[in-house]
Amino acid sequence: MDIQSMDKEYIAGTYNRFPITIVSGKGSLVYDETGKEYVDMGSGIGVTSFGIADEAWQQAIIHQIGQVQHMSNLYYTQPCAQLAKLLCEKTGMKKVFFSNSGAEANECAIKAARKYACDKYGPQRHLIVTLKNSFHGRTLTTLAATGQDHYHELFQPLTPGFLSVDAGDLETIRYLATQGKIAGVLMECIQGEGGVLPVSREFAQGLAELCAKEDILLMVDEVQTGNGRTGALYAYMNYGLKPDVVSTAKGLAGGLPLGATLLGEKAEKVLGFGDHGSTFGGNPVSCAAAVSILSRLDDALLAQVREKGDWLKEAFSGAPGIEAVTGMGLMLGLKTTKPAAQVVKDCMEQGVLCLTAKDKVRLLPALNIPWEQLQRAAQVIKAACAAPNQAV
Ligand SMILES: *Cc1c(COP(=O)(O)O)cnc(C)c1O
Repeated sequence: MDIQSMDKEYIAGTYNRFPITIVSGKGSLVYDETGKEYVDMGSGIGVTSFGIADEAWQQAIIHQIGQVQHMSNLYYTQPCAQLAKLLCEKTGMKKVFFSNSGAEANECAIKAARKYACDKYGPQRHLIVTLKNSFHGRTLTTLAATGQDHYHELFQPLTPGFLSVDAGDLETIRYLATQGKIAGVLMECIQGEGGVLPVSREFAQGLAELCAKEDILLMVDEVQTGNGRTGALYAYMNYGLKPDVVSTAKGLAGGLPLGATLLGEKAEKVLGFGDHGSTFGGNPVSCAAAVSILSRLDDALLAQVREKGDWLKEAFSGAPGIEAVTGMGLMLGLKTTKPAAQVVKDCMEQGVLCLTAKDKVRLLPALNIPWEQLQRAAQVIKAACAAPNQAV
């Protein structure tokens, strides 16, 4: 049985895969089973931060796998402690909880906000406010946090105590805050799955002021925007925010599963012994991989991300068939005249892998994608957007 039929036969039908089987890659180039080459402008949905099979990343993993591949959280291990120190030093946050995915990183943030508010104000203060059109994960609780009804319909009842408001609607949040109902606000600075939509600076700053005044935890979901993606180490830094809690995952370990929830001054002591845990969380191999990634996200690399992002924006702005370009750094959305899915399909045929997000073509290339490959991909994408729509 060939791979695609085997997959269809035995894997739950939750994914609508493209008809190619990827067998290998190097950096921002990947190869399918026929040997066809693609420039990877999706990096596994913003995961392979330094591309496929990056040398330094591989060495970090191989070294750690030869030392110890897993230990329970009953014992100390070096990579986990070293990564937590790096994350705190680079952000000014105080403590880290490690998990395995973005959804789990958000679960931890939500638990921290609930407990912070309950300890201080009592259990009636438990509401978590999120934004409409957001995406926070697929567990029942992070689905409740996700402000898109179509994700909810089939799985009722979801975890109670969540409310989503329009991005920009500070007044509703202010009203609920003065009623003493809100434990925390969770938001993405740039909604990724929602269509690469940045929140406005005024809203973000107004929200931060309100949260500080009312002692509400400001929690930023940096699962997609984090770890250099937007040209800042974390996207909240572009907004001059000082969040109380930050969740991240996707690109953190460059392609191994790892989630992290960073707790600032207010929340650093909220989670105590027995309050939370994870068998795989803080896995030494994942953490060693993340140390390799994070220690290379320096000013020079971030400047490169901004430069490449600006170049792409410039290349796409006003191009035929492209109506708007949104996003920051190497997290970009293209509003195209043709359906985004059609553009992505055409690009794939021409050897470029792109993503969609709602009605946008979404680009999340590796942070170190070589200029030549970036330019080649941009040319293919522009041509696909400009070409007349083919009847299917
Ligand atoms: C991908 C994503 C998640 C969920 O991450 P998983 O690792 O799939 O659980 C949560 N929030 C945001 C903003 C994301 O982009």
